[in-house]
Amino acid sequence: MASQELISKLENTIENIADFPIPGIQFKDISPIFLDPQLYEEVIEDLVAFSKGKIDAVCGIESRGYLFGIAIAVALQVPFILIRKKGKLPPPLVSEKYDLEYGSAEIETRKGQIKKGQRILIHDDLLATGGTTEAAAKLVKKQGAKVVQFSFLIGLKDLKGEERLKRFNAEIYHTLE
Ligand code: AMP
Repeated sequence: MASQELISKLENTIENIADFPIPGIQFKDISPIFLDPQLYEEVIEDLVAFSKGKIDAVCGIESRGYLFGIAIAVALQVPFILIRKKGKLPPPLVSEKYDLEYGSAEIETRKGQIKKGQRILIHDDLLATGGTTEAAAKLVKKQGAKVVQFSFLIGLKDLKGEERLKRFNAEIYHTLE
């Protein structure tokens, strides 16, 4: 659990931008966190405390999931695996398609980087509808590994992302709402 002090610092640092990238969306800009290395370190400590002793590898979702995910993996001395949007990674690949509001998208990992039986943390900066994270969890599962945890810096309550992830029976954590 994040301290009230950390939560307040983050609330004062993350910028809420109205109607970006499209009308009706309130965009959470986390980039000011990286101007404050001490705050960044505190966020990492919080996310590391959640996963310590419980995971064998971290899967980070492109692209802001890398900003914290790789630091969590290094702190816990476990492998970090990139989950990327279609067309960025060279073959051989394992892919998963998923539906967007309009159309569909696809995410990929390099084949062989996720090992059978590994306990996996899936990390992203923000949980909204959970669509991307759900596809990431399916991608991990079909490689024979087990998703044991999801972590996010921010979990948006209204969009019911957590409900969508419940069926994976994994722990879910977000530093901030
Ligand atoms: P979703 O699949 O709906 O859970 O969307 C999650 C992804 O979209 C994450 O990778 C976020 O970085 C990004 N995202 C969704 N909503 C927002 C928002 N309001 N502010 C910033 N990023 C967002």
